[in-house]
Order: sequence, then structure tokens, then C-alpha cells
Amino acid sequence: MHLHHYYAKQLADLCSPVKPSPMLGPRVVLTNTALASDMGIDINALHSDNLINQLFDPQHPMAFNSVAQKYGGHQFGQWNPQLGDGRGLLLGEIKTPRGKFLDLHLKGAGLTPYSRHADGRAVLRSTIREYLASEALNALSIPSSRALCLIATQERVKRDGLELGAMMIRTCSSHIRFGHFEYFHRHGEKNQLDRLFAFCFEHHFSACLNANNPHLAMLTEIIASTANLVAKWQAYGFNHGVMNTDNMSIHSITFDYGPYAFLDDFIPNYICNRSDHSGRYAFDQQPVIALWNLNALAHAFSKHVEVDALKNALSQFEPVFIASYHGLMHQRFGFFVEQTAQTQACIDEFMQILKDEFADLHVSFRQLSEQLAHIMQSDGSLFANGFKQLPRLLQWCKQYQGTMKHQLEIAKQHEAIYLSEISDIQNRMVNINPLTVLRTHHLQSAIAAAENDDFSVCESLLAAVTHPFEKRSEWSVFAQPPSKKQKGIALSCSS
Ligand code: AMP
Ligand code: MG
Ligand code: MG
Repeated sequence: MHLHHYYAKQLADLCSPVKPSPMLGPRVVLTNTALASDMGIDINALHSDNLINQLFDPQHPMAFNSVAQKYGGHQFGQWNPQLGDGRGLLLGEIKTPRGKFLDLHLKGAGLTPYSRHADGRAVLRSTIREYLASEALNALSIPSSRALCLIATQERVKRDGLELGAMMIRTCSSHIRFGHFEYFHRHGEKNQLDRLFAFCFEHHFSACLNANNPHLAMLTEIIASTANLVAKWQAYGFNHGVMNTDNMSIHSITFDYGPYAFLDDFIPNYICNRSDHSGRYAFDQQPVIALWNLNALAHAFSKHVEVDALKNALSQFEPVFIASYHGLMHQRFGFFVEQTAQTQACIDEFMQILKDEFADLHVSFRQLSEQLAHIMQSDGSLFANGFKQLPRLLQWCKQYQGTMKHQLEIAKQHEAIYLSEISDIQNRMVNINPLTVLRTHHLQSAIAAAENDDFSVCESLLAAVTHPFEKRSEWSVFAQPPSKKQKGIALSCSS
């Protein structure tokens, strides 16, 4: 594995050299062979003996230039200047066969100058959660950092109680966060801030250099892509849980997983993070918080962009978010042809029903997709029977039939032949409405087994959530929503 060290060398004063510190009894337990192959990494390099020896040999090139990055962040709305990689190290950048550079980052690597009072470690529970979520979101086409491998250890780490420690290697375009820019801006370190910008233009936002104002172009791009990312979270029921600005990536990927959850019942103001007492990061707050975070980021651009232009750029968030979210929701309902007041009303009423009934978000959409043809040919009672308010659902099925018929007519007029039959629409719907999302109660089972050294549940859950639209009998258990007892598992920040 040949590593480059652009960040460590070009921005040496924005990070600190730190070597990974070993833990007791490390062994690689999960390896992402598909990702490794996409990245041009020889799978043998990820086998325990090779990887562990290389990572923890301070003379080996693998860890020779590893660094902890300096950054700050707004945590729950309060500025915290003292963050930085407290337990993660950038090992370097790797050039993929397609010529793209990706960071390799080791999480749980031990103490760094930014560890504050903590131990620099990660636990098995949270690394499994991050590994599986990264891959599950990726399979739903929701941008995310990716998980390359997971290293279990025999060492215990103190959290709520004693837990098994672990490490993982993750990868993404870079680990540069909103908090990087905020840090150098707020400390008046103009030279460092400008070199961070220059680094981003050279390695990540080179197209922006063609714009009249490259800084404004970069901010505009981050605003739009963040709006698109959050639209996907909202459309697929993903609650990040800790949208502090140090957990926001400039590449607009889902990043720094903590107490996240996919919704089960559709509860718009659901709070997955039990440390979030005010509900700042509740599911339905995510778009507003993303804009709040972008506003915090925009301050760091103020030496290069006039205030009015910053405001104007931020004002683009809402229309981009709304268009993106509505586009995705229309697709989930099979309204591929045209968005009208009629389609919107139909969507709004269904979402209101889900909310009123605390209906399971994913089961509801999957049933709708699988039963589309049946709903179109009947009064919809088979579908409606899955809900509590039968008359309201039957009424809605009528509304849906009428709306869908109108879509088919428009498709025919526009000669959109591929969308002119219900079977075409149904095929498309079942390929965007997942059967299996990563539900918290299944994750808990996988973690419990792994803590007893059985990673087979992790492996099969991972297989199921990375083929979210596929129906296979061996995965059917993972499509099951939680029972009453299994609902509302509290997740904490402690990871
Ligand atoms: P998080 O809440 O995971 O986004 O972390 C916020 C900050 O605390 C980051 O700077 C982390 O690197 C740091 N941090 C979190 N957990 C630990 C830990 N166990 N040891 C050292 N630093 C940590
Ligand atoms: Mg973080
Ligand atoms: Mg974290």
C-alpha cells in the first residue's frame, strides 16, 4: 500500500505527528474486500498479520507520517476551540486506480495532543456501529465515509462500564471538517487559514479556481451538496444525532457516526441521542441545523467574500434542499413523471397518516412499492389493512390511484414509454424503497454477539443492509421492525 502524505507535509503546522499506539490482542475481524479492490488495495495488506505489524511498527511507512489534525467546532451550538483528532490519526492519502486520492484514517489509535481528558480509544460497539452504518448508507446512495476494516482487541476500555476496545480504518476524500476552517478563522491565524484554503483548491475543489471568486464557488458548492445530503437523510429516515460542526465534512458526506439511528416508527421529532436534552439534533431539525452549521462555516470565508455574497450563497440552501427532498420523496411514491399540487397533496397526506399512526416508515414504503399493482387494481384494502384508520387509508388509496393514473397519462403524452406501465413504475419503486435498513435493535444483537467473539451476525447484517432492496430468506429477519420492547433504545454520545 503506497501512502502519500500531502496533508502531513503541506500543512505540518495544522496537525501533530503521532504514531498509532497498539492495543492488547489486535486482530482484523471485518474487511471490506469490495472497497479495498475499488481502492486498488491488495487484500493481503489487510490480513491481520500484515496490517497489525505495519500499523504498529513505528518504522514502517504505513504509520511513519501519521498525524492528528487540529480543528475546533460548535458543539450543541457552543464554540469549542479545543477539539482536534483526540483518538484518530490520518495515516496518509492513497491514490486509487481511477486517480482519485482518498484518506486512510485510523480511529481509536490512542492518545494525541487533542485527547483532552479522554483515553484516545474507541470501543467495539461504536466501531461496529460506524462500520455498518457507513456501508448501509453507501448502499442507499447516501454519501458517507467508508469502512475499510475493523480491528477487534482484547483490551478493555472504560465507558459506561468496561467495554472491549477496537479500531477501524475508514476512508473518504478528506477528513477536513467545517471545524478546521472555524478554528483558524476564529484564532486569527490567517496564514494557516489561507494555506488550508489553498490545500483544498489544490486537492479537492480545483474546479472552483476557474470561478471569478474561487472561495465563493467553494462555499456555494459545499452549501448545495450539504443540502442534497441532508435531503437524503430526511427522505430515508436517518437521524445523525450529533451534527456538531466538527462532525460536518466539507465533502458533504455522512461523517463521524455517533448515536445515530434510522427511524423505525415515523416520529418526525425523534431524538436518537439521549444526551441531546433540548432536541437540537432531532430528526426534523436536521435541515435547519445543517444551515446553522453552514452559516458558522461561512464566517471563515469572510476575508475573501463580501457579506452580501455570503448571505446570498446561504440563501441557496433552502431551495436546493426543498427541490432535492421533494424529488426523492416523489420517487419513493413512484411519481417519476411530474411534480404537481396533486402529487404533493398525496405525499403530504400519507406522511401525515404515518405520523398520526406511528407507522413504521420503511415497512410502509416497502409495502406501498410491493403492492402498487394490487392497489391500482383494487380498492386498496389489502394495503389499508396494515394501518389503524381503515377508512382514511381507503380514501388515501383512491387519491393515490387517481394521482398515479394521471402520471401514467402524462408519461404516455410525453412518450416516456419506460414509465407508461404500472409494472415499470413498480420495478423502479422496489429498487429505491429499501426492504432492509440498519435498524438499531438488529445492530444491538450484532454487537452483543461480537462482544462474545461471534462476528457472524455482523457479517450477515452487513450483507443484508448492503443489499437493501433485495429479498432473500436468510436476510428476512433483518427487515423486521422492532417489537414494542425493542423500540426506543437510548444511545449515548459515549463511544
Ligand atoms: P465526537 O463527539 O466523537 O465527535 O468527538 C468530539 C471530540 O472529542 C473530537 O475531537 C474527538 O477526537 C474527541 N474524542 C472523542 N472521544 C474521544 C476519546 N475516547 N479519546 C480522545 N478524544 C476523544
Ligand atoms: Mg467527531
Ligand atoms: Mg465521533
